Amino acid sequence: MTPAEWKAKWPRHCTLCGGWGGKTFYQSHGPGPSEQMFDLCVHDQDEDFSLCHRCGENGLTEDGEGPCKSCGWDFDDGIPEEPYDDSDIHPSAGAAGTGDA
Ligand SMILES: [Zn+2]
Ligand SMILES: [Zn+2]
Repeated sequence: MTPAEWKAKWPRHCTLCGGWGGKTFYQSHGPGPSEQMFDLCVHDQDEDFSLCHRCGENGLTEDGEGPCKSCGWDFDDGIPEEPYDDSDIHPSAGAAGTGDA
């Protein structure tokens, strides 16, 4: 699925997080391995936390927990990565016919 197809399928998705519900990042606490953190996407405080980041329905709990009762989303889907542009990978087919130059 391309990003355009995903957006067409979920027109009411949250534009703050792109449907992912937040973003993963790594935080270092000095020496040792960095810790994987999840920065939860919070809607504006005037809005309802139960709004699903993907379908836009009130499918989450009042604390914004999944899975969504409407579409089943549970922080497991969002706008896909841009597809690779492989337009210059395809080799041109061998020249057909005879060169009569
Ligand atoms: Zn969001
Ligand atoms: Zn949903």
